[in-house]
Amino acid sequence: MIKFLDLQKVNLNYQQEIEDALLQTFRSGWYLQGEKNKGFEANLAQYIGTKHAIGVANGLDALRLILRGYIELGVMSPGDEIIVPSNTYIASILAVSDNGLVPVLVEPELNTYNIDISKIEEKITSKTKGILIVHLQGRVVFSDQLKEIAEKHNLKIIEDNAQAIGAEWKGLKSGNLGDAAGFSFYPGKNLGALGDAGAVTTNDDDLAQTIRALANYGSNQKYVNIYKGLNSRLDELQAAVLDVKLKHIDKENETRRVIAKKFIEEIKNPAIILPENPENEAEHVWHVFVIRTAKRDELQAYLTEKGVQTIIHYPIPPHQQQAYKEWNELSFPISEKMHSEVLSLPISSVLEEDEINTIIKAVNEF
Ligand SMILES: *Cc1c(COP(=O)(O)O)cnc(C)c1O
Repeated sequence: MIKFLDLQKVNLNYQQEIEDALLQTFRSGWYLQGEKNKGFEANLAQYIGTKHAIGVANGLDALRLILRGYIELGVMSPGDEIIVPSNTYIASILAVSDNGLVPVLVEPELNTYNIDISKIEEKITSKTKGILIVHLQGRVVFSDQLKEIAEKHNLKIIEDNAQAIGAEWKGLKSGNLGDAAGFSFYPGKNLGALGDAGAVTTNDDDLAQTIRALANYGSNQKYVNIYKGLNSRLDELQAAVLDVKLKHIDKENETRRVIAKKFIEEIKNPAIILPENPENEAEHVWHVFVIRTAKRDELQAYLTEKGVQTIIHYPIPPHQQQAYKEWNELSFPISEKMHSEVLSLPISSVLEEDEINTIIKAVNEF
């Protein structure tokens, strides 16, 4: 069976470096908010090009903390509206509603899977305070038009960069396009830890300082609490592993681009709709390679039979989840179509040439 993602193989590529970093951290006797965290934050900020990077416990917390930070700073208040794509992973939306903010769903474009920027303005009201863009599947969504909309209506642009670390738009890295960005280092992400981990990047000094405090019980100084904060820290072991893997992320992403290109060139089944390679290849880091067909379930069963493991990202759109009962009657036809037709092929950096060929052959023979 060709695994969808062989994490053991991914991480064993860096076995010596990772084991050295883990052992050094273990023996140091210092496990939270130490040198490893500081070092990783500095390297991540430098890589993304932002003034600040703040290590936190996971990607959902990164997004929650950004919005909570804006609430503490008086930029947003509970009840305000935040625009989010209707086909995103549920975590983007949970971060909004968890803060008492109101997610306003906007449909994606069928060919990019990303929010349709031309449909944002019609959803803006006097309560709208931000646009949470999601670089879904590893593809950047950004434009001058988006910036103009945000400026005209005085909205914050928050990036959910969980899937797109290393992607670039006009020479700037995703995570440095809007006002603040949340990252996830969940093990299966392009930059994955050995457990949960996340980060926030921003150029906003006040927001960075507020988020640092919020993630540490609302405190910047031990036993002095200025906010009703939470505990959301990146631990030293994860920071040590991430610092090793960050050095290799460009190479990992390049390998994904080569595989994606081969898939796009060599999959020639008329029943399959392939994802589009952006004109500027730097805009995509191929976190997942998503194909579409009306016979999705049959295709998945067929590929399983041929020894190719696939995953559906995602089977149920957010507005049809029980968690958001209040939206269950709403209709988002583009999202619904996507959710019923998408299938993700394996595209990890450790796929062997013969495995890639097996995947292509199996899809073509379906
Ligand atoms: C993974 C992911 C998250 C959540 O990250 P966690 O680290 O799992 O909390 C948020 N948004 C998107 C788009 C993701 O893919």
